[in-house]
Amino acid sequence: GPTIGVLALQGDVREHVHALAGCGADARPVRRAEELDAVDGLVVPGGESTTISKLADIFELREPIDKRIAAGMPVYGSCAGMIMLAREVLDGRPDQRGFDGIDMTVRRNAFGRQVDSFEAPVTVTGIEGEPFHAVFIRAPWVERVGDGVEVLGRVTDGPAAGRIVAVRQGNLLATSFHPELTGDLRLHAYFVDLVRSAA
Ligand code: GLN
Repeated sequence: GPTIGVLALQGDVREHVHALAGCGADARPVRRAEELDAVDGLVVPGGESTTISKLADIFELREPIDKRIAAGMPVYGSCAGMIMLAREVLDGRPDQRGFDGIDMTVRRNAFGRQVDSFEAPVTVTGIEGEPFHAVFIRAPWVERVGDGVEVLGRVTDGPAAGRIVAVRQGNLLATSFHPELTGDLRLHAYFVDLVRSAA
């Protein structure tokens, strides 16, 4: 399978490595620019986007990642990873910065303090079968998408009904939720396919 890195600065790196390996990818953590050079695609995990942003600068990975994105490398961002792939962030820390990623505006910690974490069914366009059992943990939602951005999934009911939680722009994919935590490999398989066809 293709070689896929998981940005290993902070967050749930191990879970993504396992999910990707379960889909037949050669999955490995990426912490240095040399390691980035060796992968065909990258996952930016959930965690804390302010920390990942800071560490991307300290580890001198921001510019190499932006260059690979510009060159068409597929990237999948989950939760904090979605925030790192957004060109505009609301309720972010003033010093946090994402990669030159998806033309969208996301709101950090959007679902509110009372419902820090919740689960909801989400249907993702292009992925067959049952809706995802989506797990949201202090998750962002997407408030604006640019012309080239495809909305792949929304919350279907409850107070957040209609909110965008899965998007794709070219080879960049992002979800507010964490498929790596539920043992459902369909999202990772979709991304592995994307990496395969981009290679
Ligand atoms: N609230 C976190 C952030 O702003 C994201 C939470 C997560 O990745 N589970 O980065």
